[in-house]
Formats: sequence, structure tokens, C-alpha cells
Amino acid sequence: MKRVAVIASLVVIACTRTPPLTSAAPPNILLITIDTLRADRVGRGLTPSIDRLAVRGTRFTNARATVPLTLPSHVSIMTGELPPQSGVRVNGAGGLAAGHPTIARVLKDGGYRTGAFVGAYVLDKRFGLADGFDLYDDRVERDPSGAVILEAERRGDAVVNAALAWLPSSDPRPFFAWVHLYDPHAPYDPPAKYLARAKNIPYDGEVAFADAQVGRVLDWLTSSGLESRTVIAIAGDHGEGLGDHGELTHGMLAYDSTLRVPLVITVPGAVAATVGEAVSLVDLAGTLAELAHRPRPATMHAQSLMRAPIGERDVYAETDYPRAAGWHSLRVLVADRWKLIASSEPELYDLRVDPGETRNVASDRSPWLAGLSTRLREIESAPGAPPSSAGASVPTDVAERLRALGYVSGGSSTDVRDDRAPNPARHLAAWNAFERDLSRLAAGDARRALPGLIRLARAFPDSPLFQSTYARALKDTGRVTEAFDIYKRLVARWPRNADLYHDLAVVAAAAGLPKEAARAEQAALALEPSNAAAANGLGLLHIESGRTSDAAAAFEQAVKLDPSNATFWTNLGNARRAEGNAAAAEQAYRKALELNPRHADAANGIGVLLVQAHRAGEAIPFFERALAGSPRFAEARLNLGIAYQESGNSDRAAEQYRRVLEVAPPRSREYQAASALLNK
Ligand SMILES: [Zn+2]
Repeated sequence: MKRVAVIASLVVIACTRTPPLTSAAPPNILLITIDTLRADRVGRGLTPSIDRLAVRGTRFTNARATVPLTLPSHVSIMTGELPPQSGVRVNGAGGLAAGHPTIARVLKDGGYRTGAFVGAYVLDKRFGLADGFDLYDDRVERDPSGAVILEAERRGDAVVNAALAWLPSSDPRPFFAWVHLYDPHAPYDPPAKYLARAKNIPYDGEVAFADAQVGRVLDWLTSSGLESRTVIAIAGDHGEGLGDHGELTHGMLAYDSTLRVPLVITVPGAVAATVGEAVSLVDLAGTLAELAHRPRPATMHAQSLMRAPIGERDVYAETDYPRAAGWHSLRVLVADRWKLIASSEPELYDLRVDPGETRNVASDRSPWLAGLSTRLREIESAPGAPPSSAGASVPTDVAERLRALGYVSGGSSTDVRDDRAPNPARHLAAWNAFERDLSRLAAGDARRALPGLIRLARAFPDSPLFQSTYARALKDTGRVTEAFDIYKRLVARWPRNADLYHDLAVVAAAAGLPKEAARAEQAALALEPSNAAAANGLGLLHIESGRTSDAAAAFEQAVKLDPSNATFWTNLGNARRAEGNAAAAEQAYRKALELNPRHADAANGIGVLLVQAHRAGEAIPFFERALAGSPRFAEARLNLGIAYQESGNSDRAAEQYRRVLEVAPPRSREYQAASALLNK
């Protein structure tokens, strides 16, 4: 496919498709990323806003993400680095380190005001993309238990509301705004109007809803008169399987249903165009730097998307996600008509005749295969790549701390070697079964998840993910001792996996083994000092054993590592209150309520502080707030009664005590207190 100019230009421009913006002033830059948006969903009536933009901009019909996973894909979009260079290859694990400048940093240093508005916890500031943003708005409501759930999301309308509150400004500087809409990501649950508009196909309904949110931002640009001074880039971060090649979601395979993404760039005054050559989102950051007349950092990929002709480019992509299941990672090279997917079983597709990637021609094309494989290895080992952690041993001091805690040191890796692991494409049925049981587990239905997870754990003994999820299901069905024994075996088998130690700690605490639990949390922190869940877990264990200042220190660490977790802040408030430090406790609770205004424990905590300070009248609305979301929260109900009583309203107090007797178990502290107070 060749580039087709939609509107003929009289002036032949030699080296750029886009004439540089005529005004010397740098343009505003609006970057919108839409999560999980398949390339084939745009341009067919579902996405009128994007389509409207595509008509006047440059539309790339053959663009690919670098990784079919949200965080590593966005890291490539923002840094202009491939995953082997950025070091960010999966969601959640650590995030982007310092020393990888992003487009936000480049533009901020170039005099821009910068704001980011993200729709999912997987892009929380703790994962490293906030540098360079004046405002990084990642207010995504978290799981009330404090668990780290990467898929926690904020709806697109709320994300756009936040962006539209920030965009209008009297600041004379140009803006760089990044808006991330997570809605098309599973689970698909669009508002009814958009579901109807999408012929009742839930995924398409989410796409239509996200597009409508894009439309709100574009409408603001038009009405504020800034359209003619704003560069707009819209991209998907990866696609979605929707059953292609047996894959329902994304991340496990590297076919084009999940790698290909929509990409549109509009530059004011530029000629509209369609580009059919293969390009990568890794080139977006450098292109935006160029459009802003800013020098590109040396780390940023330098193949401009605005140069005509684009020419033939090697497009690299990968996924390491299959390793979690004990399967082979995938490395991809697209070059002209060929696409190589390298694993223990190479796949080669001729995209020109087989765009659906259905006929693997690797065995007929061995000379091609060898050449492409060499180029793939060269890209992967290009300068800037952090040393591979595979096979690396645990640092001596960490190994010593682990030994002191009673665990094997992890000096030698027991991971299955990648080259013997199977191609994940062979096991997609197992993966789909796993995803189904995992969502049952997440929904609290461990009993229904368990049989399938037992089968998977038996079939795939080399998968830390299947083994640990099976153990978690055992714990959730009350088989705590069995779960504990399995986790003990898992940390011996994968001694460098911090999350497994944290899981072991949780189940040890549930089994009534607090010492074992504390040792496991300490091991998790020795391996991964940034593991906020382990720091929080350690704090809870200290609280249980009455060591309130140790607990407060652990929670301080947890909120430092994960500052947007309202539950961690509440735990810190509880520890400070137990220490008798009311001011610090109130500060922590207020921070929790700022993050989540409906956090029942935090609201209850502030109420208790107010009652203790003889300000019972002011405490009442906080207990009511705690009960609004959790009407069966007996402690808050009892406290509300006490607050009424202290304010001289004994009728209302008695009413609350009676309601405590309805919701609390008869032997509980709350029940006993309520009946004693009623009989006074
Ligand atoms: Zn994503």
C-alpha cells in the first residue's frame, strides 16, 4: 500500500509531508490514547469523532504498538524507546526507571504547561510516567481491601471532565495534554445508549463511548478557537483478540488483532494523507518533539512519522507476558510484507497475501527467516538495553537477608529455560480457561473457580501464575493450611518472586502464623523494596501484635510507595491513632478521603478522633458517610449512636444501638457494647 494524498497540494515538499507550522510559536499538543482499541474499529461509523479528525489529518493504516500491554506500550509511546531499551516489558513490575526522558519532560523543559489524565491504575504515577507533567491526574478508585488491582479504572467521561477542567487557562504557554481512555478494556460494560448505538455488541459500545469522550475534547478545542494552533495525535495502545487465533483479550499472543492500532496525527494547515507503510508507536514521541520544534533526546527513536515517503521500516514488537504462564516470550519483526513471530516455534507470515496470519510459511522460507531473526536480535540488544535479569542471581546482601529469614537464598535460578518453553499460541484454550476462573475468583466465587484452577496447576507445573492462583483459590475457599503448604513450595521453587512471598504472608496470617507471615513480608521487601503490598502487610501484622510504632513506620513506607492507595492511608491513620498521635492520624484519614470520599474506614476514623476530642456533633456526618456505602458496618453504627448520645440526643442514640444489634454477631464487641449502652 502506498501513501495517498487526499487533498492535492500545489507545492511539492521535499522531505516533510507537513509544512512546518508557519507561526514561530510552538503548537499545543493533545495526545489521546484509547486503551484496547482495535485498528479495525475506526472508520466504520462507530467512531465519528476520530473519523472526523482522520479526514483532515494523517491516517496511519498499518501502525503497531510495541507491546500488547498497557504500561509497556505507553512507556514506548511516551519515551520513544522500545521495551528492551526502556526495560518496561510487563504491567506492574517496577515501572520506568529514571534516565529515560519522556515527551512530557522534553515539552516541559521547552516551556510547555503539561497535564496528564489517566483512566486506569496500571498507569498510576508510581509506574514512572509522571515525570515532566505539572499535573498527573491518576485519581482512579482503588479496591477497598487495599489490594493491588492493575485493572482498577475511571470512566472516560470522568477522565475528560478532569482534562476539561485543566485545559482552559490564562497561562500564555502552549499546553501538552495527555488523555488516556480505558473504557474499551475488558470488562465491557458501556452505558446503555452506546451499547444500543453499537448494535448491542458490548466491546463496540465501549469504543463508541470512548469516541464520544474524544469528541468532547475536540469540541472544546473548536469552541475555544485553539484548533488551528493544536497538533492532535490519537492512538490505541494495543488491540483486543475478541476470539481471533483463540485469544479473547490481549497480551498473551502477538498477532495483529492485538498489535495493530489506529493512529491519526493532525497538524494545523497540513495536507491530509493516508499512510499504508508499517510504522510503530515508538516513533510518536520523537515526531511530537519535532512538531514542537524541540530537540529529541538521544534515547528517543528518530524515525519521524511526518517524513514523506515513510519508506520501509523494521517494526519491532514483543510480549513477555507468556512467561508468567511458563510459556515462551514472543518477539516480533514486521518488515515490508513479512512478519516474524519468534519463540521456540518460529512463525512467519506473508501479510500481503495472508493478513489474518493463518498460514505459517516459516519452513518454506528459511533464508528469509534467518535474516529476519538476525535483525530481530540486533534490535533487542541495541545500545541502551538494561542488562537482562534472566539468569542473574540475587545480590549477596539480599541473599543473606533471605537466608537470615529462613529461606533459600535464590542464588541459582530455577526458572524453566525460555528456549524449551512452549509457544503460547499452542495453549490458548488453557489461558482462556484461566482468565475465566481468575475473574470468578476476583468476583468472590472461589468455589466455582477452584476445579478449573486445580486442572491448570496440574497441567502446567512450570507456571508460577497458575500455581499461585490455585493456592489463592484454596485459601479463599477456607482451605488455608493446604494453601500455606503450596506457597511454601512455590517460594522454594521461585525464590526471587517477591509477590509469592507476599502471598505466602497473607495465607500464613490467615492460618494464624503471624511470625511466619512477618518473615515472608520481610523477604518480599528484601527482594523488592518497592513492594507496597508487602510493606502494608507488615504493618497489619505489627498492629495485630500491638507494635503500633513499628506498624506506623511500615504504613508510612507503604503510602510512600503507593501514595494513591486510600486503604494504606487509612491503615496509617489507625496506627497513628493507636499511638495517640491524633493530629497525624487525622491527616492520614483526610488524605484517604481525598483519594476516595466514600472510604468507610477513613470516615469512621475521623469520626472517632472527633468524639475523642469532645466534638461529637462534628463526628456525626463522618459516621453517616461511613455508613452510606457500608450500612452493615457495625463499628461505625455503634460510634454514630455514641456521637448522638454525647450530643444529648438519646432517642437517636438508642435507635442506632438497636440497629447494631440487628447487624452485629451477638458475641462481637459492638453487640455487647450496644446492648450495655441500651440498658443503661
Ligand atoms: Zn492497554
